[in-house]
Parts: sequence; C-alpha cells; structure tokens
Amino acid sequence: MMGSLVSYLYVLSAVLFVFSLKWMSEVKTSRRGNWAGGAGMLIAVVATMIAYKTQHLDLVIIAMVVGTAIGIPIALKLPMTAVPQRTAMSHAFGSLAVALVGTAEYYQRLPEIDTFTMTVLAAEMILGYLTFTGSTIAFLKLQEMISGKPLIYKGRNIVSGLIVAIALGSAIGLIIAPTHPYFLPILVVAALLFGFLLVMGIGGADMPTVIAILNSYAGLSAAALGFVLDNQVLIVAGTLDGASGFILAILMCKAMNRSFASVLFGGFGATAAGQGAAVSGEIRPLSVEDAYIILEGASSVVFVPGYGLAVSQAQQAARELGEVLEKRGAEVSYGIHPVAGRMPGHMNVLLAEANVPYDQLIEAEQINAKMATTDVCVVIGANDVVNPAAQEDASSPLYGMPIIEVHKSRTVIVLKRSMRPGFAGVENPLFFKNNTRMLFGDAKATLQALVAEFAEK
Ligand code: NDP
Repeated sequence: MMGSLVSYLYVLSAVLFVFSLKWMSEVKTSRRGNWAGGAGMLIAVVATMIAYKTQHLDLVIIAMVVGTAIGIPIALKLPMTAVPQRTAMSHAFGSLAVALVGTAEYYQRLPEIDTFTMTVLAAEMILGYLTFTGSTIAFLKLQEMISGKPLIYKGRNIVSGLIVAIALGSAIGLIIAPTHPYFLPILVVAALLFGFLLVMGIGGADMPTVIAILNSYAGLSAAALGFVLDNQVLIVAGTLDGASGFILAILMCKAMNRSFASVLFGGFGATAAGQGAAVSGEIRPLSVEDAYIILEGASSVVFVPGYGLAVSQAQQAARELGEVLEKRGAEVSYGIHPVAGRMPGHMNVLLAEANVPYDQLIEAEQINAKMATTDVCVVIGANDVVNPAAQEDASSPLYGMPIIEVHKSRTVIVLKRSMRPGFAGVENPLFFKNNTRMLFGDAKATLQALVAEFAEK
C-alpha cells in the first residue's frame, strides 16, 4: 500500500520536474516552472521519507528548518548580478551531499558490493567530488575572491591527465578489490584535485559554460546514486539535470564559439589566450544633448544591453526611452546576445521585469541581419558581446565568438562609465571606430536624462 503511494508520488514529482523545465524555457511561464520544480522536490522529499520509514524525523526536520532559514534570506536578498555564483555554490553543496551519501553507502555495503554497484558508486563519487571543488572554485572566481584568470603552467595537460588516470585507476582498483583500504581515499583526493584544476584552468569567458557543465556533472552523479539506492525519482531528476546542463553547455559553447571538448576537460589542449592587438585611435565622447539629436532623427534604433544594464538596473529607463522613440515613429528593438550579462537569459529576465514586449527582443543572428539598415545602436553597458575584435583580430581571446555587430550600423552610442574593459579584460576597438560615440556615465542616469530631454523638447 505504502509502496504504491510512494510510486505515485514519485511519478507525480517526475512529471512536475519535466513540466518545470518546459515552463522555465520561456519567460512568460518561467515563474510557473519554478513553482512546479519546487513542488516536485517537496513531494519527492516527503515520498522518500515515507519510503525509507525515516527513523530520526526530528533530525530531518531540524535540517530542513535550518536549510530553509538560511536559504530564504539568501534568495530574497541576492542581487541578480550574483545569481551565477549562487548557482555555483548550490552545485557545490548538492554534489558534496551526493558524494558523501555515495561514500557512506560504500562503507555500509562493505564487504559485499557487487561489481555493478561498485562501478556506479565509483563514477558517482568521482563526479560528485570533482563537482564540489570545481563549483567552489567557480564560486570564488565569480565572486572575485580569487583571480578569474586561467591557471596556466607548463605541462598542465600532463598533470591533469595524470590525476584523471589516478582517479580512474583507483576506481578500477575498487571495482576489482572493493575492500582494499587505500583505493577510496586515493579516488576522493584525485577527484577533488581534478575538480580544482579543471576550473582553475578556465578563464573568465568560459565560466558560464563551466557552470552549465558542473550542473550536468552534479545531475549525472545524482542519477548514478539513484541507481545505487534504487530510487527512481533521483534517477529521473538527476538525468533531467544532467541532460539540461549538458544541452545548455553545448548551446553556450556555440554562442561563444568555444571548443566543447576543451571546456569539458578543463582546458585540455587549450593554449594560453593572447591579449589581442593594442587598440589605438581617437574616442569621441558625446553629451546627452548631442545623443538626443542623433536619436531624434533615427527611424530605427536597436538597444544592445549587457552586464552594465544589470549593474545600474537600467531596464526600466531603457524601456521608457524605447517607448518615447516608438511614439515618435521609430522602429525599436533589443538585440539579445546569449551570453550578455553574467548568466544565461540574464537580459531577457531584466527586460521582462521592466515589461519590454517579448517580440521586441531579437536574437543575435536575426538582429545582425538588420544592422546595415539600422540608424542607431544604443549599447547599454555591453562590452565583450559587441567587441569587433572577435571578428577582426585573430590574436584576441574573444576571436571567433559571435557578437552583435553594432559597428555595422550607421551610428553607435555606447553607454558606460569609463574606458575600462569588460569581463574578458580586453580592449574594445568598437570605441575607436568612426561611427561610434561614447556617452559616459551610469547607464540608468544617462537613459533617464535622455528621456527627460525628449520630454522637454
Ligand atoms: P561586459 O562584462 O563585457 O561589459 C560590461 C560593461 O558594462 C563594462 O565595460 C562596464 O564599463 C559597463 N558598466 C558596468 N557598470 C555600469 C553602469 N553602472 N553603467 C554603465 N555601464 C556600466 O558585459 P557583456 O554583457 O558585454 O558581456 C558579458 C561577458 O560576461 C562576456 O565576456 C561573457 O562571456 C561573460 N559571462 C557571461 C555569463 C553569462 O552566462 N551571460 C556568465 C559569466 C560571464 P564601465 O566599468 O566603464 O562602466
């Protein structure tokens, strides 16, 4: 009786997880997706407590209360800009939990572990432990607590290869001789070390992809644990997590023109990135009044938001300026680069929050096709994603990454505070082009000043 109730609840939570992913893939339904995922998880936890006839319910409840008390304030207070590092942190905790449960299972099942269980457990522990250190390093890098530069040293591919070989070797050792006392500690240390080196070896520009891959590793590790514990919902949730992280990583690699293999294996075969050719020339600063005159005469305007829009929270002001321009008869759209900002979908979320109509958000490829006939591009705190060095300078670390080709429009107005570089730390030749004007200042204040200028005239 209880068994079938648990099965029904597991099916229900699996269905909710699937719908959650479906709904979360669109801005309009994403809140519903979030609730569905949360509800699915709650049902899965309750069903598991019933299934395993939890003995220390008091401890479970205390843990849930403590977790909730820490989690809710973090979620409420967290600025949008810190979501990637928070995601990295939850991967770190999640994968550590999975790895520790796997380790406990190993010791509990000794001395009789069959080959299948041991193989799955070994894979699960390797993935779990490496995701823990990898995600911790990703968190520290994104939070700028350590340098975001890739750790590059001579022979690092050999060192990483050796550590993987040790981890795999000890896994094979465990499968052959599960009771051997040294294989497990060696496997754990090698996996931890590999996760550390994997992410230390990856530079800023690849960080979003790494987070997606770590997401995938954490999911696969949980799915493996599901096989060991014979827990269906863990298999389903882990597989969904693993597959979605993997697909996202592939899409992001495509968006950034990065080799998936080199990110997957932590920079194997990657060469030290150059800094790009030095950029020289003249910059042409502009006043708000002059920008007003340019915009006033434009019949097509494309806004290109980036990380600076998120920092200055300029989304409302951007929408207001867009509406003013539309009312004056201009065609207005927003060019959305897949890795603009600091997390996938960052710009979509911010602009949706400001009620920018979805049909005005245009993906990079489509907006690029319209660039040559666009009068004005207003770059709002974007830098790397509009850097033409990605197309023009083979020595640039951004070379090959698809960009929004604002430099091909008639006039470009760049809103930023200074000449400081963007996330990748490289100079941007866009700022020196003949058709570019720099409008220095905080993006929100500048946009508000422009809206006021239109209101006055
Ligand atoms: P960038 O980080 O390249 O540039 C942002 C620009 O915004 C800076 O040059 C900065 O210049 C400006 N800025 C900052 N604050 C303000 C402000 N208050 N007002 C006006 N301007 C401001 O951003 P992009 O969006 O162009 O590119 C994203 C980068 O981040 C890519 O390299 C991508 O690979 C990486 N990344 C992306 C992730 C994702 O998933 N989307 C995750 C992690 C990294 P100044 O200081 O002069 O104002």
